[in-house]
Amino acid sequence: AYVLTERGFLRSEQVAYPMEERGLQFGDGVYEVVRLYSGTYIWLHEHLDRLYRSAAAIRLAVPFSHEELAERLEQLRRMNDVREDAILYLQVTRGSFPRSHAFPAENRPNLYAYIQPMARKTEEMARGVRAILTKDVRWEYCCIKSLNLLPNVLAKQEAVERGAFEAILHRDGVVTEGSSSNIFLVKHKTVYTHPTTERILNGIVRTKVKEFCAELGIPFIEKAFSVSSLAEADELFLTSTTSAITPIVQVEETLIGNGEPGDVTKALQAAYQKATKPLPT
Ligand code: PLP
Repeated sequence: AYVLTERGFLRSEQVAYPMEERGLQFGDGVYEVVRLYSGTYIWLHEHLDRLYRSAAAIRLAVPFSHEELAERLEQLRRMNDVREDAILYLQVTRGSFPRSHAFPAENRPNLYAYIQPMARKTEEMARGVRAILTKDVRWEYCCIKSLNLLPNVLAKQEAVERGAFEAILHRDGVVTEGSSSNIFLVKHKTVYTHPTTERILNGIVRTKVKEFCAELGIPFIEKAFSVSSLAEADELFLTSTTSAITPIVQVEETLIGNGEPGDVTKALQAAYQKATKPLPT
């Protein structure tokens, strides 16, 4: 397979970085994951906008301009002849330099991007999933999509070990988001989710759900909800690039609603489906 790097296109076997790489040693970088359905990028420009915002927040220069990067990613897709459902993974780090916490004197960031097949999670989206609750122990800038994912990794591992799909994170009694998703509560046909403060990542699918709600006339309220309110929710769902809109039908041992995906969630899933239907190629 071909990989896009800061030096241009390489075969995946040719991609190697020195031992002293700031992404590896410090998590000093940012990343994006973009969906492809039937070989078409979904909301690529929204993801790239966020990439440049994340990079600016950590004072990191992305090797290419937005337009150049978009063009190269399209070329990457063509070179790999991607026609199926897949994801693009892209990361930018502060580069390879002798290990030292402070920024290197030279501006020489590393970038790589590759595409991997990934099927839609149809089963989970249709039936709904179970989530567990765990403490949000992350830093204060969760709005930056940084490579520092250790708390997210530990939270997801706890979910997996306890037979659940996702870990819902909470801080001071309030639900922030999932370990790799945004979390939404539906009560009396109104959708609630955490506001876009520094405490959460502003998900691309989250911004789309907000638009779908506006189109469908569903009230959308950006207000944090408490852990204790979960038990009284009519519906719960999560969103992410890889999981789209997935109903949460159980939290810990508590069933949400009647334990089946609710009508608001299903209406939003239908809107997502319509919005992401790739054009025939
Ligand atoms: N929150 C966190 C912590 C994430 O890692 C992700 C990404 O998967 C999301 C939310 C959802 O963001 P997006 O919809 O852009 O994939």
